[in-house]
Amino acid sequence: MSKILVVILTTLFILISCATSPLGRSQFKLMSDDELNGMGSEAFSQIKQKTRVEKSKRINRYVNCVADAVLLVSNSPIKNWEVVVFRDKSVNAFAVPGGKIGVHTGLLKITKKQDQLAAVLGHEVAHVLADHSNERVSQELALQQSMNVVQVLGNVQSPEGKQLMRLLGLGAEVGLILPYNRFHENEADEMGLYLMAKAGFDPRESIRLWENMGQGSGKQPSEFFSTHPAHETRIKRLNQNMNRAMQFYQKAKASGKNPRCRW
Ligand SMILES: [Zn+2]
Repeated sequence: MSKILVVILTTLFILISCATSPLGRSQFKLMSDDELNGMGSEAFSQIKQKTRVEKSKRINRYVNCVADAVLLVSNSPIKNWEVVVFRDKSVNAFAVPGGKIGVHTGLLKITKKQDQLAAVLGHEVAHVLADHSNERVSQELALQQSMNVVQVLGNVQSPEGKQLMRLLGLGAEVGLILPYNRFHENEADEMGLYLMAKAGFDPRESIRLWENMGQGSGKQPSEFFSTHPAHETRIKRLNQNMNRAMQFYQKAKASGKNPRCRW
């Protein structure tokens, strides 16, 4: 094959793989939704086997109440999201492709109100809606063709398996955080803010969450808290999007969206 042909084919391939994030950023994606959802679901079920699940009906009802309200306005093609509360003191929450959300009980001690939990869940759901895992896995696949994602799923304890878990945003679960990049974080923050507001949660509480966070985030690694931009930077950016978020919030209230999740 001539070099020119290779270049043309490669370019075509990359063009075909390019998509656009919900906020308009162009994305490089090699995996199909089905493949990625399968990987996320598999990884999630392995975490469920390894980690104690919180059985308290009261706590589960509360977390599901907040998550359901956020998911209802997410326009996600996945209809049956699974929300699991894990008994774990670390301040963490995560969401993986395939519609799986994990919330650690440690997070519930830090988020003082339903609106603050909604801020965290909105952010995590946004990572999934914007397909950030697909981008990370795709970049890794493009760099390292040897990684056979289907094979490594059978053994998440292998180095490749751990790498895959990290790419899915599950760093804390395997003891090593791979931060989402700055673009992913900004996007998840902005989308998450709008999501919580559209669900009828007060978006200003996201700022309060970050203000409280300085003292209480602990030392445990966590996708949401340890790997993210400095609190001040984040609060500044959230404030820049607050007017728009408040409009969504007022509209949600006017249309009767008034979540009352308690525990
Ligand atoms: Zn994040």
